[in-house]
Amino acid sequence: MKKPLTPALTLIVLIIACANYAQAQETKLQWLGHAAFSITTPNGKALLIDPWLRNPMNPDAKDGKDPLASISKVNYILLTHGHRDHVGETIEIAKKTGAFLVANPELAGNLVKLTDFPAKQAQDYIMQMGGEIQIADGEVTIAMTEAVHSSSVFNPKAGPNEPERAYGGSPAGFVIMIRNGPTIYHTGDTAYFKDMEVIGESYSIDVALMNISQMGVKLSVRAAQSLRTKLVVPMHFGTFPGLLQSADGFATEIKKLNIGFYEMKPRETVMFRGKQMIKNK
Ligand SMILES: [Zn+2]
Repeated sequence: MKKPLTPALTLIVLIIACANYAQAQETKLQWLGHAAFSITTPNGKALLIDPWLRNPMNPDAKDGKDPLASISKVNYILLTHGHRDHVGETIEIAKKTGAFLVANPELAGNLVKLTDFPAKQAQDYIMQMGGEIQIADGEVTIAMTEAVHSSSVFNPKAGPNEPERAYGGSPAGFVIMIRNGPTIYHTGDTAYFKDMEVIGESYSIDVALMNISQMGVKLSVRAAQSLRTKLVVPMHFGTFPGLLQSADGFATEIKKLNIGFYEMKPRETVMFRGKQMIKNK
């Protein structure tokens, strides 16, 4: 016969159950430098966005270290467009982890055709701008949004009869809606466009990962207003010459408004409980 739990033991079991529940409800967002972010959902699914992990801002890529060494679990790779500073190590990571690609059909097709990206991982989650798909057993809904930029796939087979760049379809951004977690907008490499207001109206954005170099300070501030985002995290600055070298000017301007601002450090992880940022570590 099973012994009934004593009141003290029952309390301990309840405390452990509550702690596990709280842990399970947390979403992790990590910046890996440049436009690369990883998101871990409350159910433990791992998403990578624009994984150029060997970018010079990533501490894991310094002093001869290989940032891919610590990558073991990735379920989905989201690509905003085909430029090298966004595709990064997508192919190596996909082969290592079996991650599925979330991208437009032209970019996905040419990655399979021109590189050795595994074809089976580039078919189930292919999408177009304006569309929404569900991934992670319905825990995450992704919307692909407009981006004013260009896109092409660098062709490793380039030569006299092969072009240096292949078609990459239209560049994009992503709105990532996480069940029991925040709604995160990654702008991709877009310039400012006024229809960011429509994105803000359509989705209640908790965090905007914002390319401040592509928009510049003035229009990045306007973008934050158009999006009606609760929190802005700057990205895509300081990586190489030609970009904004810091987020300081943007920080000064955005702090004058009633919009949350948080500058992550490369490799830093911030946590969300529900839609609320609770801590960083
Ligand atoms: Zn870029």
